[in-house]
Amino acid sequence: MKLTDINVIKRILGRHGFSFSKALGQNFLIDETVCPRMAEMGGAKEGTCAVEIGPGLGVLTVELAKRADKVITVELDTRLIPVLAETLSDYRNVEVINADVLKTDLHKLIAENFDGKPVNVCANLPYYITSPILMYLLESKLPVENITVMVQKEAADRLCAKVGSRDSGAITVAVNYYAESEVLFDVGRECFTPSPNVDSCVIRLKVRKEPPVKVQDEEFFFRMVKAAFSQRRKTASNGISSGMGIAKDKVSEALNLSGLSPTVRAEALTMEELALLSDNLLKVK
Ligand code: SAM
Repeated sequence: MKLTDINVIKRILGRHGFSFSKALGQNFLIDETVCPRMAEMGGAKEGTCAVEIGPGLGVLTVELAKRADKVITVELDTRLIPVLAETLSDYRNVEVINADVLKTDLHKLIAENFDGKPVNVCANLPYYITSPILMYLLESKLPVENITVMVQKEAADRLCAKVGSRDSGAITVAVNYYAESEVLFDVGRECFTPSPNVDSCVIRLKVRKEPPVKVQDEEFFFRMVKAAFSQRRKTASNGISSGMGIAKDKVSEALNLSGLSPTVRAEALTMEELALLSDNLLKVK
């Protein structure tokens, strides 16, 4: 069954009376080269296991199942469960879970199902929750090696930007703290049905064993980063002061102690500078 063939898709979906849900980010891949590339570049191979989010019709799931020892895939849309039972019927090493990935205990799922083998996450993400999903995967310190995901092009630019460059944001800092990110390849809107209004990009986050900087208080660091980036046209100092309720002179003191200009903008700060500022802010506040 060729799941990228638009006629096959129409036939299966028609038989199940399925119609696409825009709200659930349902754009299914119809380009036959994308999923094998994603699976390969995502590290799916013998001796590894994979977690997928949002299988849709199972087009990426089968490519993962052909390569990895075991695949667990989490799909929110209950209407797709009988469809997946049909499209994945040839693959004994796939388990489909009908759930919201953000409410799924992936730690437990990995611990109970994968016999301690290396695990990779691979997914064509529902774009409406790209950041929450990635932050959930990273912040919960999931024991995975790579997270290889398709995201909207603009999101890829932000997620894979260099910290300290114009494109960087709070999410860039967060991603960089937990992983090394890289853009793998572009995917045009014509590769999907229905065709979305945006182009896409496959990115890979190689999860770090240790963060690139040491901070005294991780939770405080991330709160500061969020506040610093919250008012993009303003200075980091303004954002931190209003976002964290810390007096401006205290923020200026911390900036000064860190050797930074009082008017510096968050996007100009490197990882090391943000870490130092966070530690100094803790000291003076
Ligand atoms: N993997 C398929 C493909 O590449 O053709 C479908 C990808 S589609 C962009 C996103 C999928 O995520 C849809 O199947 C959608 O129903 C599912 N989804 C949306 N929100 C979800 C959530 N919170 N948890 C799990 N799956 C979700």
